[in-house]
Amino acid sequence: MGVTDEETEGLIARDHSLEQALLGSILATVPDALIVIDMAGRIISFSAAAQRMFQYAESDVLGENISMLMPSPDRERHDGYIDHYVQTGEKRIIGVGRLTTARRRDGSTFPIELSVGEVRDERQRLFTGFIRDLTERQKTERRVADLQAELAHASRVTAMGTLASALAHELNQPLTAIANYLEAGRDLLDGEGPVDREMLREAMAESAAQALRAGEIIRSLREFIRRGETMRQPEPLRGLLAEGAALAFIGMDSRGIDMDISVDKDVDKVFVNRVQMQQVIINLTKNAVEAMDDSPVRILRLTAAPAADGRVEVVIADSGPGLEPNMSRTLFTPFTTSKASGMGVGLSISQTIVEGHGGRIWAMPSPWGGTAFHFTLDSAD
Ligand code: ADP
Repeated sequence: MGVTDEETEGLIARDHSLEQALLGSILATVPDALIVIDMAGRIISFSAAAQRMFQYAESDVLGENISMLMPSPDRERHDGYIDHYVQTGEKRIIGVGRLTTARRRDGSTFPIELSVGEVRDERQRLFTGFIRDLTERQKTERRVADLQAELAHASRVTAMGTLASALAHELNQPLTAIANYLEAGRDLLDGEGPVDREMLREAMAESAAQALRAGEIIRSLREFIRRGETMRQPEPLRGLLAEGAALAFIGMDSRGIDMDISVDKDVDKVFVNRVQMQQVIINLTKNAVEAMDDSPVRILRLTAAPAADGRVEVVIADSGPGLEPNMSRTLFTPFTTSKASGMGVGLSISQTIVEGHGGRIWAMPSPWGGTAFHFTLDSAD
């Protein structure tokens, strides 16, 4: 028995209304907000969760520009973002997702995770945005991070204390020997009659040997620290950068920061110790954000691209005031800081970790007059 055209149409129509009802019920229940906009950025759909999250009724926002839900600088720039995508096809956010900030009706801002999709037919393109409110999650993460920071600080102090006493202990012996040999040499020179050149020579040769031994002790301790903690495996770089930056932002004033993470399509995994590498990304990102405290324009860019010899080069660049002139020489030396409450160990730890991974780290001016920290890693692809 065949199915008539009318019957088929009826089935399709029923299917269509079922789909609509299903979609409606999903949207009413998921905690994430869904907002649909057209190519001009005008809001054409605003889910119930979006209404709760942003404190606007759907009728208040329909037809309005989506930028009303963003704080500066995205608010002023969003039309440009859409134009850029429509003209170049370059996807900066579509299909990727991003941690950013949104603005409620009363002007207050809150952290969100935004995932953008695109729907098109031959007539038009629409963009769908799923938004998750991270306020609660950030509060919890901040508590965890505070505890972790305390713990990290405590263990760093302990580690430094242990290292310092180990060094003092190990170095005491060659230093005492050097002092003894040099004093013996001085006594030989001060003595009556001709100087016993052979004995003097021996005293000097011995003290030189002891000085070399002291250097060897320091070197092997450093090796030990490096080797002890390094367990490396392939890790996706984009995830590392996104997580590191998100962790760095916790507890910091990240308002008005124009942040972007862009990883070259040829870069995927890097061969690293995840925890250590996150430490590097957190240190560099925190420094960048702190440097931009008083900057009118706050741009933060984390980028990664292939470099020579199967390596990957990561750059963390800011639009702050740049390095203080007297800092650039001693940047990576422990305990050098230009901050009132700085400890001055972040960059030196980052250098130890990057070099422990066989890479290099250096600083250069950024395109916005700030600083760009570069470092290299081994690609795991
Ligand atoms: P701390 O942040 O505790 O001072 P660091 O070792 O991380 O220690 O940094 C050392 C110094 O390097 C900082 O005090 C600052 O002067 C300088 N510095 C680091 N990053 C930047 C940056 N992005 N822009 C300007 N100066 C920076």
